[in-house]
Amino acid sequence: MVNVDRRRFLQATGLTMAAASAASIAAEVGSAGAPPALNTDTVPGTAVRKRAPLAPIKASMDRVISLEACLRPFRPQGPRIEAERVGRKTIVHNYGQGGSGWSLSWGSGRRAVALAKATGEKNIAVIGCGAIGLTTAVVAQRAGLKVRIYTKDQMPFVRSSRATGVWSPSARICTLEHATPEFRKLWEEMARYSYTQYASMLGIAGNPVEWIEGYKLSDTPFESGASLYTHAPYPGEPEYPHLEDDHTPDLMSAMQSLTKDQHPFPVEHVRRVNMMMFNLPSYARTLMQEFRACGGDLVIREFENPRQFQDLPEKTIIHATGYAARALLNDNSLVPVRGQTARLIPQPEVDYAISYDSQNVYTVPRRDGIIVQEWSPGDYGNDRELAYPDALRASVEKVRRLCEQMGKASPLGAASRS
Ligand SMILES: Cc1cc2nc3c(=O)[nH]c(=O)nc-3n(C[C@H](O)[C@H](O)[C@H](O)COP(=O)(O)OP(=O)(O)OC[C@H]3O[C@@H](n4cnc5c(N)ncnc54)[C@H](O)[C@@H]3O)c2cc1C
Repeated sequence: MVNVDRRRFLQATGLTMAAASAASIAAEVGSAGAPPALNTDTVPGTAVRKRAPLAPIKASMDRVISLEACLRPFRPQGPRIEAERVGRKTIVHNYGQGGSGWSLSWGSGRRAVALAKATGEKNIAVIGCGAIGLTTAVVAQRAGLKVRIYTKDQMPFVRSSRATGVWSPSARICTLEHATPEFRKLWEEMARYSYTQYASMLGIAGNPVEWIEGYKLSDTPFESGASLYTHAPYPGEPEYPHLEDDHTPDLMSAMQSLTKDQHPFPVEHVRRVNMMMFNLPSYARTLMQEFRACGGDLVIREFENPRQFQDLPEKTIIHATGYAARALLNDNSLVPVRGQTARLIPQPEVDYAISYDSQNVYTVPRRDGIIVQEWSPGDYGNDRELAYPDALRASVEKVRRLCEQMGKASPLGAASRS
């Protein structure tokens, strides 16, 4: 019941909104026998807590400060994290994290660094400086290695910079068909390790990582399974496994059903959940500062083919070029899954996310701007990295209407208390 409920939420949002329960904070990383997910609908005695009023989002096109398309580096069989001997070098591949690259970056990095360390080399190269390359470089330094990054581009001119910035460790990470017991074990290891690293970055300068509240809105009752199942979340895409439900329920927070007097939204059905958010510019800067402070070196270089890896002085190379690996290595296992993110002018007073699946609109209150997002038909397999301004316009209008009505809908006004 809890898992099905949770799954519907994740499917419906298109974003994975996860959060820690009190139980998870005490839970040992990697421990077996995790406690079940908490859900106030099913956990007696869990009260809906009061919170400060919700500030409306000022949604209008003249407040849009960016709109960027991006490709998720998806592999049906899951990310490629393995070593191969090529010529005089050991190449450790670390790419193909789909819609989970930020979330799984620490765990993927740890796995790749273990393979690199096994070569006995103390000086290693990392190719790529997106979420995966940069985080892997930091993991390698923490493991005592000297690291030089080679990359074509740095943030913010890498695909990772265009992500939403939420904890979504199972988003488009592999197909259900490929979710073998071995892969599930690896995924759980990566997710738990990453989660611990993110938890350790809470409260530090610049707020790279924060906990926020997410509001899931629905025009139909959450329990009306038929309509939820009929409207598949990603038409035209393969079926994905529900790894969080299955393996890390203890990292998911209570989902609270709210009554009409407990929220200001002009919507019939509303639920609230805690979720972890990454303020990507601040977070990436924090990573880069650590990399530099630990003696990390960075060289701007574009590789035209993998033979050029042989020119590098380092004998062990971690390769993390994301979707670019498709062309660079001729790896056709990489499937592009297009998406886009827009930002509205930052509103520090807005501290909640919205996920309104039946309207196909999602917002995340990042410090560098309120992310507005939607899903578009044909994103799977689409390698045209083009933004769709009309889709954004429609989303902004939906958010505008929603926020305009927020005050009217609630007897408590826009500043509803629940
Ligand atoms: C719309 C959208 C929203 C998303 N939201 C989230 C989210 O909220 N949470 C989450 O966890 N994940 C999210 N993702 C997924 C995440 O963004 C990706 O998994 C992640 O960015 C992949 O990172 P990467 O480092 O592998 O690739 P990239 O960011 O593409 O980095 C590749 C690096 O390699 C370098 N490079 C490429 N080619 C060469 C070459 N030939 N020579 C030298 N260097 C080269 C590039 O310059 C870059 O530095 C989202 C993705 C999309 C599209």
